[in-house]
Amino acid sequence: MSRTKIVAANWKMNLSYAEGEVLVKEISAGLPDPISCEVVVAPPFVYIQSLIRQTEGLPIHIAAQHCHEKASGAYTGEISVGMLKSIGAEYCITGHSERRQLFHETNDIVKAKVDAILDSGLIPIFCCGESLDIRQEGRQNEFVKRQLEESIFHLSPQAFEGLVIAYEPIWAIGTGVTASPAQAQEMHAFIRETIAAKYGEQISQGTRILYGGSIKADNASTIFSQVDVDGGLVGGASLQADGFLEIIKGAC
Ligand code: PEP
Repeated sequence: MSRTKIVAANWKMNLSYAEGEVLVKEISAGLPDPISCEVVVAPPFVYIQSLIRQTEGLPIHIAAQHCHEKASGAYTGEISVGMLKSIGAEYCITGHSERRQLFHETNDIVKAKVDAILDSGLIPIFCCGESLDIRQEGRQNEFVKRQLEESIFHLSPQAFEGLVIAYEPIWAIGTGVTASPAQAQEMHAFIRETIAAKYGEQISQGTRILYGGSIKADNASTIFSQVDVDGGLVGGASLQADGFLEIIKGAC
């Protein structure tokens, strides 16, 4: 089954609004034409609405990096998925390891966020991945399987089809250490097999699984050419137009 690749930029807490605006302008000017993959940009919340306007009619989709799981209420400082939907966001990242580590988001909390994102009609980019300790102990498959079981395997088959997964080994995020293409393929194949065992072959083959962790212009195309890798979630290297465009070309 052919799956449209996705290249998603996670800006995290970087760039001024003016810098972000220029970056999006440069990216849109340099996109392959025609383009055969989806390009997603996840800016900080406060830039989302303006960037949605800026990218109107362009093949760039806007994502949020995070959301609150509740629809509304006394949650000072938080943003609901309904709010994101109301301004036109299309995707929402959830389960990112930085949210898990720094903001104590557990598999249960991520499960509630996945439900809220799907209920609102946005597409969740559900992140999973193991720490270096777990990989060194050889427990990465068991660990990732548990993240899937506890946060997304409660979904109905129909809901599951609306989800994108990003495998992001924590030891490769922002470290400059990339999983080798073989390591990425091995885990992506394992995730796909695990999905097949739960939801069947057809849904498993249709699920897009992105790789994230120190993707750069010089390693992107090799990683993206692995059969079970359907694109990437890119942090640091998405902040420069030239490098990010090279990464996009590696997928599209
Ligand atoms: C990320 O944070 O999702 C990520 C993949 O970061 P980096 O590309 O900088 O490793």
